[in-house]
Amino acid sequence: MAYKNNETRRKYYEENKDEINRKRRLHRLKHGDKIRARERKWHDSNIEKRRMQARINHHKHKNETEYKQKRKKQRKMYYKKHKKVISLKHIIYNKTLPKTRELRLELINSLGPICNNVKCLVYGGCREIKCLQIDHINGNGKDDLRKFKSSAQMYKYYLQNPRIAKKELQILCANCNWIKREENNENGVEKWQLMRIKIVS
Ligand SMILES: [Zn+2]
Repeated sequence: MAYKNNETRRKYYEENKDEINRKRRLHRLKHGDKIRARERKWHDSNIEKRRMQARINHHKHKNETEYKQKRKKQRKMYYKKHKKVISLKHIIYNKTLPKTRELRLELINSLGPICNNVKCLVYGGCREIKCLQIDHINGNGKDDLRKFKSSAQMYKYYLQNPRIAKKELQILCANCNWIKREENNENGVEKWQLMRIKIVS
């Protein structure tokens, strides 16, 4: 049914509320699977959009006491519901962490434990292994991590394929890595600034 404006539509809805809602419920019962599949498809294909919207909403309401209390309750409920899984994850993390560190060191050594930046701030290139970091040359580290699901898996893959590792990765010291990130805007600073503008205006 076409309406001239929102007011008449609202009026019609108020007058025929029960009937409309009954029909909606029936429709959902009848085509529930189809609707749910469509919704899931939309959710999966708009992940970035949804995350962005959630962040904007959070920043809009984060100082309201009601919102804070609601979030606190939600967090508590989530923890109660997923207590076992969370504690298990912690145990697994603590067990696998030393192994992941070993793999990381191995990968750094295989790529050559020296900063690759010609203009490194340390004379002759930084060689201190505690300061060295693995850098994705094309700045796609996040996507890579998402693809392999864990950093350990990623290190293993590159250790098994040293040719690909030399193409995709390089060793930088922490200073040079940050400078590269700032210059290439890989920190997502722009994104956040854009968001702030959106919230203010
Ligand atoms: Zn350096």
